[in-house]
Amino acid sequence: MRRITLTACALIVGLASVVVYSQAIAPSAAVVYEGARLIIGDASAPIDSGAFVVQNGRITALGRRGAVRAPSGAARVDLTGKTVMPALVNAHVHFGYETFTRAAGESLAENFTPANLLDHLQREAFYGVGTANDGGSAPVALSLQFQLDQAARNFSPAAQYTFNAGIVPPNGGPDSILIKGTRPLHANYEVIRAPEGRAAVQDVIAKNIRHIKIWLGDRNGSYPAMPWQVYEAIIDEAHKNNITIHAHATTLRDQKEALRAGIDVLVHMVQNVLIDDELGALVREKKPYWATVISLGDRSDVCDNDPFFTQSLSDRIIADIRANGCATNPNAAAREERLKHNFMKMMDAGARLLLGADTGVRPGDAFGSGDHHEIARWVNLGLTPAQAIVAATSRPAEALGLKDVGTLAEGKMADFIVLNANPLDDIRNTRQIANVYLRGARLDRDALLAKWKKAEPTQ
Ligand SMILES: [Zn+2]
Repeated sequence: MRRITLTACALIVGLASVVVYSQAIAPSAAVVYEGARLIIGDASAPIDSGAFVVQNGRITALGRRGAVRAPSGAARVDLTGKTVMPALVNAHVHFGYETFTRAAGESLAENFTPANLLDHLQREAFYGVGTANDGGSAPVALSLQFQLDQAARNFSPAAQYTFNAGIVPPNGGPDSILIKGTRPLHANYEVIRAPEGRAAVQDVIAKNIRHIKIWLGDRNGSYPAMPWQVYEAIIDEAHKNNITIHAHATTLRDQKEALRAGIDVLVHMVQNVLIDDELGALVREKKPYWATVISLGDRSDVCDNDPFFTQSLSDRIIADIRANGCATNPNAAAREERLKHNFMKMMDAGARLLLGADTGVRPGDAFGSGDHHEIARWVNLGLTPAQAIVAATSRPAEALGLKDVGTLAEGKMADFIVLNANPLDDIRNTRQIANVYLRGARLDRDALLAKWKKAEPTQ
């Protein structure tokens, strides 16, 4: 068990911190959770009446009820009638800038504090997300320190924080909302020529960061795109050092370029045109991980007053979104047809789908709740619930190189969601959350809700 602890965390934190983390997470007494249907999170069949043992924040045994031996003196929790699934893993979020004050968003550099980052990770945790990865817009030094503090248990319980270092052309990178926040903080490495790209990768490696985000494309001509010589150098330098490259690419041309250049995680789906066989062939050849990010800017759940989404937002922001952010899109039907075509064409070609929702860019698709929206959209576009759950748990963990989260299995972190209904029957049942456990400890979701409702701005 100790060996697994080290493998998973040693990349980021020192040995001493890891030991403190694993010992302080949960009471050392074993707890047996029994009777629930267990959804493992990989492609394996669920266990209809299962049991698992949690000790020191980890799952130490798991199987059919009756076949799992509990340590003597273990406490028992009866979960008959419930479904347990792994906590979600979100591979693409933008943390730290949003303050949930205005429908239009209010991303400013000064908002990015450890306290605001923690609040955003608590929002993810509230909705059952155990690990969430920032997509290249977080300040690097603050992020590294935050990880050390989180591993040392200096913060209250929240989703585990990971992040990509961003490499962009001058003034490039995050879009019009986030860029206001990122540029003054120098969150990104700004590079002009290939040697600078390679030097940026080397600097990332020196900081022990294993994931890089690059932005392809010119955002409709709003700034000069990163030249191919630069991103090819970045990808080459990264791959020589086993660093994973996540690439923002929204157009058909940019997605093809990203795949030809050999990126590992493709972020976004083409939404403005039908994708063609050439892109399909590239996906078939390269088998990229793929974060769809369909939810970005989608406020329909708040507009519909869906309590699952509005419960964690202040009344003020809900009213603002409903007043200013709920105009119907006259092109919605045509867009939906393109999404259906493009999504299943990518899936049929073998894209390795994973959860990434761009939550944090706009308040309407908020941390955690936006993740559930994204998952349900996949099913809506043609995926089975079982496939969607894999794409929201074990596959993002695999893509992020996180060996101890993403499935329910012996040796894994005890990060799990207890559901009142079975999401294999209806994917929207991922929203029927009874409890969330992180590192074996039950999250106090009521206290978090009280905090967010109390934090109501007065003006
Ligand atoms: Zn993004």
